[in-house]
Amino acid sequence: MLYRKMPKTGDELSILGFGCMRLPMAEGTIDEPRAIAQIRSAIDAGVNYMDTAWPYVNGQSEPLLGRALKDGYRERVKVATKLPTWLQHSRADMDRYLDAQLQRLGTDHIDYYLVHSLDGPSWDRVAALGIGDFLDQAKADGRIVNAGFSFHGLAEDFTRIVDAYPWDFCQIQYNYLDQQFQAGTNGLNYAASKGLGVIVMEPLRGGNLGLPTAPPAVADIWNAATIKRTPVEWALRWIWNHPEVTVVLSGMNEEAHIEQNLAIAAEAAANSLSDAELELVDRAGRTYKELMQVGCTGCGYCMPCPMGVQIPKCFDFYNKMHMFGNIAEAKFMYAAFGSGITGNDEPGFASQCVACGECLEKCPQHIPIPDILTKVAAEMEGPGFQEQVDGIREHFKKGLS
Ligand code: SF4
Ligand code: SF4
Repeated sequence: MLYRKMPKTGDELSILGFGCMRLPMAEGTIDEPRAIAQIRSAIDAGVNYMDTAWPYVNGQSEPLLGRALKDGYRERVKVATKLPTWLQHSRADMDRYLDAQLQRLGTDHIDYYLVHSLDGPSWDRVAALGIGDFLDQAKADGRIVNAGFSFHGLAEDFTRIVDAYPWDFCQIQYNYLDQQFQAGTNGLNYAASKGLGVIVMEPLRGGNLGLPTAPPAVADIWNAATIKRTPVEWALRWIWNHPEVTVVLSGMNEEAHIEQNLAIAAEAAANSLSDAELELVDRAGRTYKELMQVGCTGCGYCMPCPMGVQIPKCFDFYNKMHMFGNIAEAKFMYAAFGSGITGNDEPGFASQCVACGECLEKCPQHIPIPDILTKVAAEMEGPGFQEQVDGIREHFKKGLS
């Protein structure tokens, strides 16, 4: 296992972090003996950063991680969890949730505490509720050690949030397809320039970059490489090649995935890929992008839409469905993020577009936005869609009474 230093604290963190968002399941609940064995074996192999969150696995992830870290494992790792931003309605709520999370995790402190899934509007909302004061106080009384945030918004909001509080670290979606999406490479470099450690999530874009069903044109690129590596290894090594990245989170719920990721993490030093190898990965990225239905860069200039349509998000999940063929996953993510549950709590689906045309002239890519949104609505919002949205909302809304 290789380790990298968290810039502000000097903590030596394993470059591979254990993500507890997807754990092995049996009969609708976590397969606890298997999950605990997986977590402990990863720690025994050198992983020392464990990431969970309030809503993961229907609220079961934090308590499970707490149990997995008994018998001396807690002292060997740094624990990261996240304040459920969308459930905060007052300054007092923040203390209530943190205290409940400490209890769920069976610990007296969270090493890395994140404000979960920020974008511009959700940041403005929790900032007005006093999140800065909450984080200051939780650090001062020792309940949290490092304060950070995870991010799923527009690039310009990322830099604004980085500058708005003396964060220790942040967590961004980053992979070779998302170099200009959300925080992107600019955001990674900006955060690092401000001394923040950067945790990377979605290194395989929800697993899609490692699917054996990769489009033939992409598979041909990997097959033609002089050094033979799996698509997963290429994707992970590309991220770790960036010295600005501290930890990459991988949701590993199969023993084989854990073994595979551990082996890669033992070798993936920063700046270790050659120019030819970087060009190969870029070529795979360009090939994936040719399969995109919409050339949306996620810049957000078309926003806000008067009808609340989350235009870039709609296009992202629509593209995802066509690029990876993982239809169920893309539709689920569209329903979840489009519902607004992790943001301003307002739905932003393609079907809300009334074709007013207000966004058209703002798009530097000259995308016929309302026309494409009609296609998105037709393909992503079929029968059963509203029931799916309702189910997701119910799941995320499970909070303290
Ligand atoms: S055309 Fe549709 S997406 Fe564009 S601003 Fe009007 S309602 Fe919003
Ligand atoms: S302005 Fe155009 S490219 Fe930018 S997010 Fe909107 S649709 Fe995408």
